[in-house]
Amino acid sequence: MKLAKFPRIRLGHGPTPLEPMPRLSELLGGPNLWIKRDDCTGLATGGNKTRKLEYLMAEALAQGADTVITQGATQSNHARQTAAAAARLGLQCHIILEDRTGYKQEEYRHSGNVFFDVLMGASVSEVPADTDMDAAMAALAEQLRARGKKPYVIPGGGSNTVGALGYVTCALELVDQANNTGLVIDTLVHATGSAGTQAGLVVGLEGARSQIPVLGIGVRAARKPQEDRVFGLAERTAEMLAVPGSVARESVVANCDYVGDGYGLPTAGMIEAVTLLSRTEGILLDPVYSGKGMAGLIDLIRKKHFKKGQNVVFLHTGGAVGLFGYRQAFDGLKPATT
Ligand SMILES: *Cc1c(COP(=O)(O)O)cnc(C)c1O
Repeated sequence: MKLAKFPRIRLGHGPTPLEPMPRLSELLGGPNLWIKRDDCTGLATGGNKTRKLEYLMAEALAQGADTVITQGATQSNHARQTAAAAARLGLQCHIILEDRTGYKQEEYRHSGNVFFDVLMGASVSEVPADTDMDAAMAALAEQLRARGKKPYVIPGGGSNTVGALGYVTCALELVDQANNTGLVIDTLVHATGSAGTQAGLVVGLEGARSQIPVLGIGVRAARKPQEDRVFGLAERTAEMLAVPGSVARESVVANCDYVGDGYGLPTAGMIEAVTLLSRTEGILLDPVYSGKGMAGLIDLIRKKHFKKGQNVVFLHTGGAVGLFGYRQAFDGLKPATT
């Protein structure tokens, strides 16, 4: 893979830790559970978009951009990390937020990630659900160009071939960590949305000939469109890295049974997973992605999808700041009794 020829700017702390989760493993009584802490990338509370932005921002600077434009849902972790990266590099940042949930609560609309977007100096505009977000970004880019700016447009979730390189890098980092500690990873599980994380992982793991299967837990689309999207991006990323055709269609697997009523809408499984991780491992998940991803993993363990003795790694993609935007979803939560 010709990875080194792509410019990269270090924005995150790394390598991120790979740690066991002994208490959760014991409680569930299934495989040995491990966690790859990409919530600890460090960029304004971290998350998986940081790795993508290391390549995207490098390309923006290489093209002489002075401004970045991106989009996401109201509580977008991607928008928040983009705002942070832009602040750090001295670029202007424009964020277009799509009201995908229709939630009117003050905390959803202004706390959590949105608070941080504004705090880090991004300009934020809001548009209704089902807006053509790519067209909205293109229109804004045009306006800015007319004012003499040099905008660089980052797609939602940072998921294009350049962004996916961040997770090719993560795959190599994980294989290296596993080798150094003698850990045989049987499956890597994570939440999959805009597809860049999973696409990068499957390309990187294949490039390392690791034979580690990846299981994406969907948070928005149905299985077929989600897998098609991941596979398409993986194919284009592999081509860009001069290893065309290296990813097999069968190696792209998404389980989309844990979406619930829709993107960003809480589920009972998510509430349970977030609470359980908090109380067994002291780890904060997020309500939109890693909470549903972990809900899927927990359910699959209960259904004996994995064997005892296997090593399952959960990639924690970050986003706990979003909990502040979703605090009301946890209103039924009972404090532990003394
Ligand atoms: C964006 C995001 C994901 C999904 O990653 P994709 O590359 O968009 O599939 C997972 N978890 C969190 C916390 C995210 O912010």
